[in-house]
Amino acid sequence: MSIAINLAEIKSSLPQHVTLVAVSKTKPVSDLLEAYEVGQRIFGENYVQELVEKQDLLPKDIQWHFIGHLQSRKVKLIAPFVSLIHGVDSLKLLQEINKQAEKNNRVIDCLLQIHIAEEESKFGLDEKELEDIQKQLLDSARSSDNAFKNIRVVGLMGMATFTEDQNQIKKEFTYLKSLFDKYSKEKTENYQLKTLSMGMSGDYTLAISCGSTMVRIGSSIFGTRQYQ
Ligand SMILES: *Cc1c(COP(=O)(O)O)cnc(C)c1O
Repeated sequence: MSIAINLAEIKSSLPQHVTLVAVSKTKPVSDLLEAYEVGQRIFGENYVQELVEKQDLLPKDIQWHFIGHLQSRKVKLIAPFVSLIHGVDSLKLLQEINKQAEKNNRVIDCLLQIHIAEEESKFGLDEKELEDIQKQLLDSARSSDNAFKNIRVVGLMGMATFTEDQNQIKKEFTYLKSLFDKYSKEKTENYQLKTLSMGMSGDYTLAISCGSTMVRIGSSIFGTRQYQ
């Protein structure tokens, strides 16, 4: 199966309101170009170095999403061009993104990652931490000197448990959607939840039925990944 055919099939199955992020981690630039040539413009990468190298080689109208776990010291490498950072899981990281965005005269859109899986290994905030970050951003926006004017939290992101149990996955997606609904009521210019990023190759149909507005699909487009 070719990348173009895979993409066309997936796109035709997505409702209009759902955005497709083509997850291209570990894949060569030629594979990304194949997707680009049939109109794909949003790509997701997990590794900072790989993202920077690919961005340098590929057309400038691509919107690059960082979907991995971001370390504070690496924010400066992607701040000049990144279009959405999916995995923000601390206020400290948000502060660093704000600082680097300011240096680049930009406002960087971010999603807060919520821990919804059973696995300890997955990153993300719990509800209390989400509530704290929301409060900080709302308070900050109301003060005369907004300390977060170069970031905009535009939604939430989560990864379900890696399991065959559809009920388990559904429970986790439904929980994330409930947090999304609860925490999108209040908004300011730097905090306005519109995007709910959930669903990958194995579970995106279920994610959409649970309210996802953005799916991150890799192997169903580009084939299985080979890790060194
Ligand atoms: C790799 C990855 C994906 C894509 O996974 P597939 O199963 O290949 O679709 C989506 N989201 C995140 C955060 C990833 O790391």
